[in-house]
Amino acid sequence: MQYNLYFCTSDYWKMTVDIANSAALLGRMAAASHKVATVAHTHPDGDAAGSSIGMACWLESLGKEVRCIFPDPTPSTIDFVYKGERKEKTLFFSKEPETVKTWLQDCDLIVVLDMNDIKRSEGLSDILKAHPAPKVLVDHHLEPSRDQFALTVSETEISSASELVYWLLKELCGNGVGKISLECASALMTGMTTDTNNFANSTWPSTLEMASQLLAMGVDRDFIVEHINWHYGENRLRALGMLLGTRMAVTPEGVAYMVLYKEDTDHYGLEDGDTEGFVNMPLAIAKVRMSILLKEDKGYFRISIRSKKGTSAATCATKYFHGGGHENASGGKLFFPQDIPAPADAPQYVQYMIKDYFGNES
Ligand code: 5GP
Ligand code: MN
Repeated sequence: MQYNLYFCTSDYWKMTVDIANSAALLGRMAAASHKVATVAHTHPDGDAAGSSIGMACWLESLGKEVRCIFPDPTPSTIDFVYKGERKEKTLFFSKEPETVKTWLQDCDLIVVLDMNDIKRSEGLSDILKAHPAPKVLVDHHLEPSRDQFALTVSETEISSASELVYWLLKELCGNGVGKISLECASALMTGMTTDTNNFANSTWPSTLEMASQLLAMGVDRDFIVEHINWHYGENRLRALGMLLGTRMAVTPEGVAYMVLYKEDTDHYGLEDGDTEGFVNMPLAIAKVRMSILLKEDKGYFRISIRSKKGTSAATCATKYFHGGGHENASGGKLFFPQDIPAPADAPQYVQYMIKDYFGNES
């Protein structure tokens, strides 16, 4: 039986992006380049890393010289995606700014992944904005800044940037342009698995189809799932226990929020990535429709918001936390002393914003 990609999915394939046309344009831009940089968002997660590495592998299969550049390091929990030489070909701007600047100087193509605006690369954004190389965006967030890119491939009805990269590469490889290696396939499986929270959300028919095809290519999903979920220290669970036990507040509006202060992070020895997934936990409560985690950093709280269908996390992040993201998974920042006088005022701000956000409901 001929197994065709997009076909049998025509009834439920919700993507609006034109994969064939986008892939052809990406292929042409890649063909015209020699030295390519991939760039993803600050505090890179599994999808940022997975989509970057997947794209880099494909570009390398075309003979291009590629570096994956991130504004700052990925958490150690996803270190397993950098196999062999990949670690040396991965650059973190906050760690080695001069190497990144030098490397970018004669890049002739920049592929931006898993963010809708160059400003999400924070420290790198000025350099990127001023860079003369054509830029390609492959992303799944709302409202992409199309004017920043020569080619924008953006789709919100998809699990992850990694999935979008997969369908583009699949199309290109089907036309004899480059190859999907096992490293590429494993990276894309990792990004899709983390962004769907192991198929708990943002899972479309195309997502399961991708997973099926990657498994058939030989991707070791057990290894990936084990590393994503079972490689934390004891401290992570102790901190989660404390948060759920003593910090979680649940409001009459059905919002749960938890504040993690700098003292807590120090006390439990938490590193970046250790709090991944904490914000999802309160959604287990039937009456909770939105969950907010505030994590103190230098001069601001990092905000993570998750919501159930019918409640917009994205609008909340945009309106109250200088952020954005997806309809049901978003983030932002709450600055002190600009937004609130001091860290201790965070709960009061959250209580105010919940009343304001849900106040007009009948
Ligand atoms: P997380 O809670 O996992 O850090 O982020 C969830 C989602 O919100 C991600 O899709 C991420 O891109 C988005 N997000 C997180 N922080 C920010 C932010 O400061 N600004 C914007 N625009 N989006 C954010
Ligand atoms: Mn993503």
